[in-house]
Amino acid sequence: MLKNALFWEPYMKDSVRCFLCMRKCIIDKGQWGWCQTRYNQDGQLITVTYGKVALSSISPIETKHMYNFFPGSLWLSLGGLGCNFQCHGCQSWGLSHCDVKEVVNKIHDLSPEIVVKKALRNGCKGIAFSHNEPTMWLEFVLDVFKLAKSEGLSTCLVTNGYLGSKAFDAIAEYTDGLCIDVKGSFMESYTRIAAVTDINTIFSNASDAKRKHAMHVEVVTNIIPGYNSSEKEIKEIASWMFAELGKDTPLHLTRFFPYGEFKDVVPTPVGLLEKSRLLAMKEGLNYVYIGNIPGHLSANTYCQKCKKIIIKRKEYDEVELNLKNGHCSNCKSLIFGRFSL
Ligand code: SF4
Repeated sequence: MLKNALFWEPYMKDSVRCFLCMRKCIIDKGQWGWCQTRYNQDGQLITVTYGKVALSSISPIETKHMYNFFPGSLWLSLGGLGCNFQCHGCQSWGLSHCDVKEVVNKIHDLSPEIVVKKALRNGCKGIAFSHNEPTMWLEFVLDVFKLAKSEGLSTCLVTNGYLGSKAFDAIAEYTDGLCIDVKGSFMESYTRIAAVTDINTIFSNASDAKRKHAMHVEVVTNIIPGYNSSEKEIKEIASWMFAELGKDTPLHLTRFFPYGEFKDVVPTPVGLLEKSRLLAMKEGLNYVYIGNIPGHLSANTYCQKCKKIIIKRKEYDEVELNLKNGHCSNCKSLIFGRFSL
């Protein structure tokens, strides 16, 4: 469905400047933005991906790398088309970097009403946008989230965080949980992994999510050997989190599997993930998980006081809870996160 886009302004003559994301494209009349999800139609910016749901599933929140956020609950998870990053090892390349102009015509429109009804009918805790970058169809995400909140559902975004601050503030008002994909702490890592050259906003959006908008935030870093795997980089990510997001904010260090242009990079050795986890914990973080290795002991959540397992994870859909009303069943300590009563 074609819709007027949000977050743009007239530029010169019939050109426009899109400030939805930090690429800040200047788009001439009849031209498309870098992401191909919006184009300039006679001096107006139009989005072509509104309601174009390319992927939809009912899945546990754990599949979003959200472990201290309603663990074990089912969510309606939606993915669309396009991305504003170009990650060379992207596992969602087919959705993120397809020819959006072509593919979009093959996908039926879904309305926010249909999406919310589907979540309610299936007993979901909430609605999550993931798979591709949610910024790419923020107009749709906003409408879905507004309706979802009015129906008592929770909301979750899995994002690279590369939004302009106005766009981020707008969606933050309706977002309960945020999983932010931090590719590294160095500009060089972002450039090599994702072809991005300006990363300050990613970190300030994450801080704002926590401090200004009181969202539940978790961070995921896919450790790619030789790209963002140095001790210095892991320590910097962890120390930034400690200072800006707090010691209890979960960090997920996930295993990379070769794909796309990174098909020759080795899968992340388990020992490297385990060492990185210890480094991050030494920087003061309490909840550091190892991801993409089902059954690994570091996929469990441990009580910070008595050290017992309070959330045991074998697979994403096999979650055993040893807590009650957000307290450890053993020593009754309060556990950081959001939990169903
Ligand atoms: S959302 Fe798309 S068109 Fe807008 S600035 Fe980002 S890449 Fe460019």
